[in-house]
Amino acid sequence: MKSSKQKSLKILVLGKPNVGKSTLINYFIGEKVSIVSRKAQTTRQNITAIMTEGLNQITFIDTPGLNSTKKNVSIKETFRSSVISTDLLVYVVDDRKISRFFENELKKELHGSHLQFSKKILVINKIDKINKGELLEITRETYKKIEFDETFFISLKKGYGTIELGNWLKNQLIERNWEFKQNEKSNFGKEQFLCELTREQILHNFHEEIPYNLEVVMDYIRPGGGNSLKIYQTILLTKGSYKPIILGKKGNGIKNLSQKTRLEMEKFLKKKVHLFLNLKINRG
Ligand code: GDP
Ligand code: MG
Repeated sequence: MKSSKQKSLKILVLGKPNVGKSTLINYFIGEKVSIVSRKAQTTRQNITAIMTEGLNQITFIDTPGLNSTKKNVSIKETFRSSVISTDLLVYVVDDRKISRFFENELKKELHGSHLQFSKKILVINKIDKINKGELLEITRETYKKIEFDETFFISLKKGYGTIELGNWLKNQLIERNWEFKQNEKSNFGKEQFLCELTREQILHNFHEEIPYNLEVVMDYIRPGGGNSLKIYQTILLTKGSYKPIILGKKGNGIKNLSQKTRLEMEKFLKKKVHLFLNLKINRG
């Protein structure tokens, strides 16, 4: 007989910046909860994303980019913060050697006592651009440092292996009450998310010229005409020299940025948006 009790599973997703952690979570949640970017380190806070289907609830904890120069510190921070009670560790790597650089630190942390996973799995992503020989080598090298319970070879871009991974995860569900409501998708506030959308567009549009650690804050949201919203945000820049870059010739830079961001916001809110972006130099 089929059980009619709630089941849940909490997953910590770890890996170097840019390996596809956010893409993986978005794939399973089916909605844009985590910011995906070609530029490393866009996910700054831990984000919990929640997928509820029937009686099953799976939550993913997305971790901020782990910076290679300060790797000890940031891995520790990640572990010490939100991670105490997760069931599974999903460790993601891709084709780049750099993506596999913190296994030694990870190994050390896993030997500590405060952190216990029932299972640890290795996910090798981007197999659309890795050949068989490389795949074997990546697997062998990683297992030398950490003994994983399972390995999955996937491509989130092409959809290879993702169904198998999803099915495997569902088999790990534990019978117990849910932590989140049925329709909750993320513990990330809507306002915070709207700021992240702006940040994402800045990183996409200005690439190398603007550092990733810029901040966007929400000033206020007001109802506009009809069913629309007026959104006022301030972009905080760490240097005066970034201002003309964002403004662009005749203000075209910020006009373009504002237009693209507005479209993303409208998709997300399913409402018409009037966006007002303000620039401020904030030397911290
Ligand atoms: P995160 O920093 O680990 O969260 O990485 P993101 O999810 O932001 O992804 C980083 C980049 O890798 C994005 O440009 C993705 O589109 C890209 N990406 C993700 N999965 C794949 C994949 O399977 N194949 C390829 N070729 N690119 C991918
Ligand atoms: Mg990310």
